[in-house]
Amino acid sequence: MLVAGSRVGLLAGGFFLIVWGCKGDTEFHCNHFRIPGHWSSNFPCADCPADTSTSPMRWSNFKADAPWKVLGFAGNTERWLRHVAARGKNVHIIFKAVADGGLGLGTDHLFRDTLHICCLGILPHLLGNTLWVLCFTTIISSVRTPAGRMNEVWERITDKYKQRQTGSQFNWIDLSTFADETRPNAEYPTLSGKGAEMRHLLPVLLTLAFRFYQLCYAKLNREQNNKNNNNNNTTTAKTKTTKQQTRKQTECQGSVFEDLMGGSEYEQHVQQVLYHMKEFYRLIDTTDSDGSIPFYLPEGIVKRLQHHVDEFLSAYSWLTSYSLRAGARQWNIVPKFHYFWHLGDQCRLINPKCVRHSTRT
Ligand SMILES: [Zn+2]
Repeated sequence: MLVAGSRVGLLAGGFFLIVWGCKGDTEFHCNHFRIPGHWSSNFPCADCPADTSTSPMRWSNFKADAPWKVLGFAGNTERWLRHVAARGKNVHIIFKAVADGGLGLGTDHLFRDTLHICCLGILPHLLGNTLWVLCFTTIISSVRTPAGRMNEVWERITDKYKQRQTGSQFNWIDLSTFADETRPNAEYPTLSGKGAEMRHLLPVLLTLAFRFYQLCYAKLNREQNNKNNNNNNTTTAKTKTTKQQTRKQTECQGSVFEDLMGGSEYEQHVQQVLYHMKEFYRLIDTTDSDGSIPFYLPEGIVKRLQHHVDEFLSAYSWLTSYSLRAGARQWNIVPKFHYFWHLGDQCRLINPKCVRHSTRT
């Protein structure tokens, strides 16, 4: 088989090879193929013209009307090549047309993979912040110190591991694996671990967060009811006392989130980010009726995946903004969150499971 006199030819007695995809993490693609999009550049994405400005084109703008979402290079290699040229980069031969001796690839062929973007990119932040909230606030009110709360959480995690017969488990988690115990607000919480350990901890922490929030609110409701009953018998200075008691019940000892637990919106967003990421993982585990992994995902699954990606990024951005207003170093956003949006978009073209770097789940 010859195409326009190019180097595409017969192989192995009639079979021929078509390069349709190139797996690799973003840093490899940018460094090896010398394309724009390195996370440290002013244009930190290879899939769209998002930038580091403070305009709506900023890569961390995850609002529904973010302009970079409709300016992606998917399916528009010509526009991408103009972007490459505008950034002063030479076009790598694999991106040149077949007629010009290349392979005719575009950004559509540089697949994002869940191991680097999700397991090792997003989950360290998501799980590290969740553990921080559980240990450095008073959600777990039965224990008074962060180290004591961590022990409580770890006991629950190991119980869940046994119940779920989890294959890839953390051997141990303590405060030092995601924060500085003596200066818990000094750095953004980030959990250290392997990709499979992260992924399988996600549904466990979601369950625990739900449970601890339920216990926390059940206790607060009981105390509020008792307080209301007492207030019926005494009417003096009750407004001031109620505010003081509520503050005492909800304060986050040793953190800047002194009023964090005073409302329900923050906790809801913590649970939302865990839930939407867990659902994303569950959906990419979709199998055909014979148990095989489908190369292409059904349209309905794709829409649900993209819904969970959008909802995750929206809820996480809310937490980030909340933290910034509070002057806290929490819920850090890094470029892999932006790449996650493109990974969701890529689900239209291929099941992310099929371009995962590790087959271990
Ligand atoms: Zn992008």
